[in-house]
Amino acid sequence: MADLARLVAAIAARMAASTERGRVASYIPELAKVSGDHFGLVVATADGQEFAAGDADTEFSIQSISKLFALVEALAQHGDAVWRRVGREPSGGAFNSIVQLEAEGGKPRNPFINAGAIAVSDLITDPDDPRTGAGRILRLLRELSGAPTIAVDGAVAYSEAATGHRNAALAHFMKAHGILTGKVEATLSTYFHQCAIAMSCRHLARAGRFLMNGGIDPASGQRIISAEQARRINALMLTCGHYDASGEFAFLVGLPAKSGVGGGILAIAPGRASIAVWSPGLSPQGNSLLGTAALEELANAMGWSVFNPEL
Ligand code: GLN
Repeated sequence: MADLARLVAAIAARMAASTERGRVASYIPELAKVSGDHFGLVVATADGQEFAAGDADTEFSIQSISKLFALVEALAQHGDAVWRRVGREPSGGAFNSIVQLEAEGGKPRNPFINAGAIAVSDLITDPDDPRTGAGRILRLLRELSGAPTIAVDGAVAYSEAATGHRNAALAHFMKAHGILTGKVEATLSTYFHQCAIAMSCRHLARAGRFLMNGGIDPASGQRIISAEQARRINALMLTCGHYDASGEFAFLVGLPAKSGVGGGILAIAPGRASIAVWSPGLSPQGNSLLGTAALEELANAMGWSVFNPEL
């Protein structure tokens, strides 16, 4: 795969030179401190190779990419009962929208908007021990990426909690409707801490490998979730992983992917690769601008689209 090595390097070089980089998230004050100049890309292929370029080993705040791993944890613990609390339809709205929740009786559209993710966090949190939820996600991420040092960035977690009034509003509203069953404070603590987990593109690409491989982590041979669950999570990533830009992302890239406002995106080419990209500047919908551009180039050059008959 010499071509892939060249391609990854060429994409990173082009992105490094780009002057249109989007805007770094500022509504969580701690995230605003990150420079918009970063760009990192790692492709972990099904045959066990890794292709990296740019800031591949710099840690960043994974933010909403954590919603993916929280869902994996919730499905492993509760199976299909998860779907009593959260739906499986794209919302067509902003990630932190409140309006749809009231119109639809408190049940969030999908697990990747904030309301849905908070409902999932509730499912994995022991109400009497708020540290359990984020702890479970950390354990999973460390195991999948082989990096025992992955941790929560305390300053980001604090910044989220101090400014997370919209998320608190969503949580209390869902509690009033019986969608949350635990203690709101414990559930929010899980949510804020999972969003504040810091990881590099290299570790994130490794952590996503089970999703290109039918639910089995190729590094350890361990089954993380069933093949059906992996397929379904990929479907949700494709339809809901980029909020109100999910259709556009499917149109441009054509791969299941989950973004976060830290500027990271984890994308899955089933049977082929797990790809992590990071560039902190965002589009108006809160998705990495250059991350999306890089994935579009990579997917087109490699023919990696789930809509490609040869994938
Ligand atoms: N922690 C962020 C929030 O709750 C996550 C949002 C995101 O990454 N889209 O607003």
